[in-house]
Amino acid sequence: MRAKVDADVCTGCELCTQTCPEIFYMDGDVAKAKDIEVSSEIEDTCKQAAEECPVEAIIIS
Ligand code: SF4
Repeated sequence: MRAKVDADVCTGCELCTQTCPEIFYMDGDVAKAKDIEVSSEIEDTCKQAAEECPVEAIIIS
């Protein structure tokens, strides 16, 4: 599983970086997802971050 942030949609609220800091980090005004495979231990918090994003900017694949 991998996560991506659509920078055109992200509002920079920082919620995902608080929910799942193992994957999401701020890069200026928007969040980014580390370009790594999401390990099974943090899949649930990564999915939670995606579900809680207020503008649905996080894409899980
Ligand atoms: S929760 Fe969504 S809008 Fe907020 S920083 Fe993360 S990707 Fe951006």
